[in-house]
Amino acid sequence: MLLKIDLHVHSEASKDGVSSIRDIVKSAKEKHLDGVAITDHDLPLNRNKAIELSGEMGFLLIPGVEITTSFGHLIVLDPRRNFYFNAPFLEVVKTAIADGSTVIIPHPTDPFSHGVGEKSVKSSLPYSLPLEVINASTLHRYNISAARLADTLNLAKLGGSDAHWAPVVGDAFTIIESQDQTVDAILDAIKKGRTQAQGNETLFTTTMQSILKKFIKHAKL
Ligand SMILES: [Zn+2]
Ligand SMILES: [Zn+2]
Repeated sequence: MLLKIDLHVHSEASKDGVSSIRDIVKSAKEKHLDGVAITDHDLPLNRNKAIELSGEMGFLLIPGVEITTSFGHLIVLDPRRNFYFNAPFLEVVKTAIADGSTVIIPHPTDPFSHGVGEKSVKSSLPYSLPLEVINASTLHRYNISAARLADTLNLAKLGGSDAHWAPVVGDAFTIIESQDQTVDAILDAIKKGRTQAQGNETLFTTTMQSILKKFIKHAKL
């Protein structure tokens, strides 16, 4: 079956996120997504918690985290441990893969979003990590360069909204050719590269609204 999944979403648990998981799920359902991965900054959502929340909300949540490594951001799906802040990039990759987690590289060529950069992507080639080539929160040119890099290195392509606010969940997403609508089947399909990136960059006006929400959260108005 083909599933439409947003693999990169931040909840209010991230310092710069403003929406509850409940609001994220509501938005994802409205956009006819089949699931979302919750990838808060350096704060893993573990498998048990994801299953519990999925049951409560009647919607598939994929456990995840966006790790800040020494070279930039890395998404670990189904994380089994907590990595320390700024841990060496390749060490995080190696350890997470050995744990059985699924690792993807978000916004690889965007220096303003802590992309790990082309050199790091190349250093991780033995692991054939999929690249996020449509990130709704970055500039179009960085998505173009990410897609070009994936083509050159023959890596699988993914899409994710990188939403920090529920209304933009699903602006970019991944079509996954999966055996089943379960976390295991989806992660297996990602590991096998059965993915296709879709969607667009979020409109500038929506981005400005999202920034305003973050400001209000921190100003505690
Ligand atoms: Zn990031
Ligand atoms: Zn992110």
